Formats: sequence, structure tokens, C-alpha cells
Amino acid sequence: MSTKINGSLIEISLEGPISEKASLFEINLQPFKEIKINLSKVTFINSIGVKNWILWTCRLPQNAKLYLDECPFVIVNQINIVQGFIPKNAIVTSFLAPFLCEKCSHEETIKLSQDVHYFYASDQAAASVQIPENLTCAKCRGTLEPDFLLEKTFGFIKRTS
Ligand SMILES: [Zn+2]
Repeated sequence: MSTKINGSLIEISLEGPISEKASLFEINLQPFKEIKINLSKVTFINSIGVKNWILWTCRLPQNAKLYLDECPFVIVNQINIVQGFIPKNAIVTSFLAPFLCEKCSHEETIKLSQDVHYFYASDQAAASVQIPENLTCAKCRGTLEPDFLLEKTFGFIKRTS
């Protein structure tokens, strides 16, 4: 894990599993207004990790904004399945989604980003999704398709206020 502090902003890069031992849970976050966490190197989360993560989010400063960047797909699933996994005002700024070639079954991970590929619901507009089209398979030049259910995976952008 590494951290970078800039005034009231803290940026944290997590690595490895989120389990009972994750050192994230020991950082004092009270002084910060913005907490940005990069999860690209998180390998998995076990049930104790889920429990500790939820307890940790409850201890976050009330007025702080939580941003989650490059969430592995396993974490996105937790966000969608486990009620209260992230605070209501938290934002997933990007996540890593599995895509599959229709022709040769080659798998690729594609990063999907907020305000490019998906848009949170706001006062002005409903949540929406813009999956990249014409993604080409590196192996056979076929077309990559999402290897996940859109409705289920993007459940998190419908959460408001
Ligand atoms: Zn292919």
C-alpha cells in the first residue's frame, strides 16, 4: 500500500487481498475531505475483508468524499451485491471489466470510466451507460463483447443522494 497526501486530499493505492489484515483499516482518515483509493492491484476480498471494509467505511469522516478508481470486477460485484459496501455519496471513477471475443474466446480486461462509459444519475438526467463499441480482439481481430450483464453490473450508478 502507498499513500500520497496533498492538503485535505489523500490518495491511497491498495495492493493484494482485502482481508482481516489490510493496512488500509489502520490509517487515520479523519483529517481528510477527499479520499481517493486506487484498487487496481487488489487481488480478492474475503468475507472478513468485506465485514472490515464496511466497518471501515462507517468510520470515514462524515463530510469526506470517497472515490474508488480502477476497481477490479470482484469489487464492483461487491458494491452491487452488498448493501452499504460503499457510502451513498461514494463515486466509482473507473473499474476493470471483462470482455470476450465472440470468435476465439480471447478474454481482455477493459477499463470503463465515469463520464466516458457510464454516467451517474443526477438531478438533470437518469443514469446511463455507453459501452465502447468496435473493440477489436488482439488475437483474431474479431469483436470484443462485454462478458457481464450490463443491468446487474451498472446497478451502482442508479444510486442517488
Ligand atoms: Zn478473437
